[in-house]
Amino acid sequence: MVAVVTGGSRGIGKAIAEELLKKDYDVIITSRKKSDEVRELENTYINKVHFLPCDISVDEDRKNLASFVGEKFKKLDLLVNNAGCAPRERKDILEITPDDFDYLTDINLKGTFFVTQALTPYLIANGKSRIVNISSMSAYTASVNRGEYCISKAGISMTTKLFAARLAEYGVSVIEVRPGIIETDMTSKVKEKYEKLISEGITPIKRMGQPSDVAKCVSAVADGNFDFCTGTVIDCDGGFSVRCL
Ligand code: NDP
Repeated sequence: MVAVVTGGSRGIGKAIAEELLKKDYDVIITSRKKSDEVRELENTYINKVHFLPCDISVDEDRKNLASFVGEKFKKLDLLVNNAGCAPRERKDILEITPDDFDYLTDINLKGTFFVTQALTPYLIANGKSRIVNISSMSAYTASVNRGEYCISKAGISMTTKLFAARLAEYGVSVIEVRPGIIETDMTSKVKEKYEKLISEGITPIKRMGQPSDVAKCVSAVADGNFDFCTGTVIDCDGGFSVRCL
């Protein structure tokens, strides 16, 4: 079994990669920089980790990733579109510039869309395969101080539906995993703020999520537990999505 995990060098992507390595997948991990965490995985799972530098916002890098998969494996069982970033600086939507908007959406949305398009031939070639898109509760929650992030994640929800509709006839299912507040580098600067909100009851389950919480959802998809589902959303958010009164 072969999987690609974009942004697998740390945080949620690294946890997903490790979960798949435990199942004996060959895992192609991509990110812009190789991390010590990837080196550790290489040492633990000998010959199963295939690191490829790839900035998903760069078309040449996406094509290079597709060539790598094609030449080395010819087929792909699972694509996990996890790579993503927060705004360089949180700014009100009345102040963000077109450059701020392009920077983020080029990675989170355009990058995810075109990585998927580039790898589709290898998913189809497999006969039966799966795509998991890591979106966010920001897909439906308005944060006016990082609107471009919310827009990018709402776009991933539609990307999920589009590829689900287009690829079902080829045996490719597409699932969206929507994390809530997860403890990673991405949330480290706002950890205190989120911990306070959680203690005040923003989520029924009163803790920050861990990367492993998200990885377990992806693992269930990889195991085929969602094979009559496509375009489906899994909320991995401590119950954030539940409206409470
Ligand atoms: P981290 O910042 O910890 O990790 C992000 C990963 O993506 C790294 O491997 C990073 O590697 C990679 N990455 C960033 N930019 C690019 C790029 N242009 N091209 C390729 N790889 C890139 O974030 P998380 O683990 O927290 O987030 C993972 C995903 O989960 C993201 O899509 C995020 O939006 C989503 N998410 C996170 C939540 C959270 O609370 N943490 C909540 C909801 C969703 P490198 O920098 O070397 O490229």
